[in-house]
Amino acid sequence: MKNRIEDQSGLLIGAHMSVAGGLYRAFERADRVGCTALQIFTKNSNQWNDPLLTSDDIANYRDAENKSNVRIVVSHDSYLINLCGATHELLEKSRRAFISEIERCRLLGISFVVFHPGAHTTQDRRSALKLVSESLNYAHEATTDAKVVALVETTAGQGTNVGSSFAEIAEIISGVKNQDRVGVCIDTCHIFAAGYDIRTSQGYGATMDEFEKLIGFDMLHAIHFNDAKKPLGSHVDRHEHIGQGEIGKEAFGFFINDERLESVPKILETPKGEDGYQMDLENLTLLRSLLKGKRNPSSLNLERN
Ligand SMILES: [Zn+2]
Ligand SMILES: [Zn+2]
Repeated sequence: MKNRIEDQSGLLIGAHMSVAGGLYRAFERADRVGCTALQIFTKNSNQWNDPLLTSDDIANYRDAENKSNVRIVVSHDSYLINLCGATHELLEKSRRAFISEIERCRLLGISFVVFHPGAHTTQDRRSALKLVSESLNYAHEATTDAKVVALVETTAGQGTNVGSSFAEIAEIISGVKNQDRVGVCIDTCHIFAAGYDIRTSQGYGATMDEFEKLIGFDMLHAIHFNDAKKPLGSHVDRHEHIGQGEIGKEAFGFFINDERLESVPKILETPKGEDGYQMDLENLTLLRSLLKGKRNPSSLNLERN
């Protein structure tokens, strides 16, 4: 096929892609740069509206997915959703929107939805973390026929955002009744901005040991691969191209070569170049070059709903 790059590395890597023109169009964009993993918004991420998917939307999406080299898709929920919203109105609105997101994922056969735990604003952190767990329980109970797993994304701790430490993420997870439907997405830029120094193999090792101890690798289902514009512990969330930021490319090599993370999709959320593809191509090429030895993609056991 024209405009298609075949991944030879066996890695599960890719990028967040636009769904402009239809959800199914994300797959041609992903194939164009050789993605084996893909993240999308199933709707406009900056609006509250919840468009209904038509049977054509779903059929086109499933068809494009089957023809694509993408082996795993994750959804990212709307930025407006705050599952620990301090007002009744915001919380209700957020929960409703999150439930429709899960519903869209179910219809599209997307197994994972990444979400930001939210901002506590006027409440104390503890109550906010509890509220996130309760919101997840609420959403799970409202969508019992869906298997979609909600992935709490680690945050940079900007403003009053919760979830900037593995301990806080663990606390959210511990309050969730259905443990099969909750997991974690690590964002490299966010954990670095939150103070986890992953730049050396020692720092990486200590960070992942803490993750394993407090949360466990069986909970880790996605990694956002972003370098950081701001220094360690800045609590500022600004993504940079791989190897061009404060984290540096070595750290990404630690993730790429960590066998415990082999089946975890690693997804870029870095700025697109002018033509929309060049920078993704460069970042993905750099990431593949960091892999030592070969991977056997058929050894990965990926489930699709
Ligand atoms: Zn995110
Ligand atoms: Zn970010």
